[in-house]
Amino acid sequence: MGFPRLRRLGRETLTGALGLLYPPECPLCERPLDFDEDDSPRGPSRFLCARCREGLEKERIQPPYCARCGEPLPNGDADLCRGCALAAVPFEGARSYGLYEGGLARLVQLLKYHREPALAGALAPLLADIIAREGIEFEGITYVPLSKRRLRERGFNQAERLARALGRLWGAPVFPALRKVRETVPQEALSRRERLENVRGSFAPLGRARCESVLLIDDVYTTGATVRECSSVLQEAGYERVFVLTVARTPHPRSSPAAEGNPKEVEA
Ligand SMILES: [Zn+2]
Ligand SMILES: [Zn+2]
Repeated sequence: MGFPRLRRLGRETLTGALGLLYPPECPLCERPLDFDEDDSPRGPSRFLCARCREGLEKERIQPPYCARCGEPLPNGDADLCRGCALAAVPFEGARSYGLYEGGLARLVQLLKYHREPALAGALAPLLADIIAREGIEFEGITYVPLSKRRLRERGFNQAERLARALGRLWGAPVFPALRKVRETVPQEALSRRERLENVRGSFAPLGRARCESVLLIDDVYTTGATVRECSSVLQEAGYERVFVLTVARTPHPRSSPAAEGNPKEVEA
């Protein structure tokens, strides 16, 4: 064991238990992580190598996008996408770091399906990046809950892990504000309207609002049916302003030639 290894171990100890649990190699390219490279305490560098971090930066959704739901727009003529121009949404805004593809999709999948909750630490800085860029103001952070059954199966709620990692990074309180009261059927085979009906009534508030403005965190924004329903319930509970942040959003058929027909729903 040479000095670099010792230094790495020391660094991991300093950066907390997550570093100890997670092997010191990049989860995307499996190259060993070099903690000596330029590092910022807010950056995801203790999880990802410099090249993969650069890759993620290229995946960031660039303007123009809908001022309300954040959907990438084909040109800059309009402020709002067609859906938001036609109907009100129950949140102030929704933003995602990038599209659900490439390295970003891989990281979400590792977090969620390969059950590597420590990777929330690699993704939280991307959410913080959106807050800083958009100048989003909020008092507290909450997250989309899982049903008891799904929570038992997975062992953790990936949205909660993201919210808690973001709360640590941003220095904001994180709390549960919703619970899932009804199991929903997988959304994949459903139309947009059916998806809304599928989630309607499936969430309930946990007590009264703790603040006026709250961030609602989820991993992936697909049709927005889930976060709309959650935002409505939060508003009924007394939260006046809800802002939705997700790591990724599934590509709209228009914004990606690879995606055709209905966007593929990502499992909760
Ligand atoms: Zn890498
Ligand atoms: Zn929109």
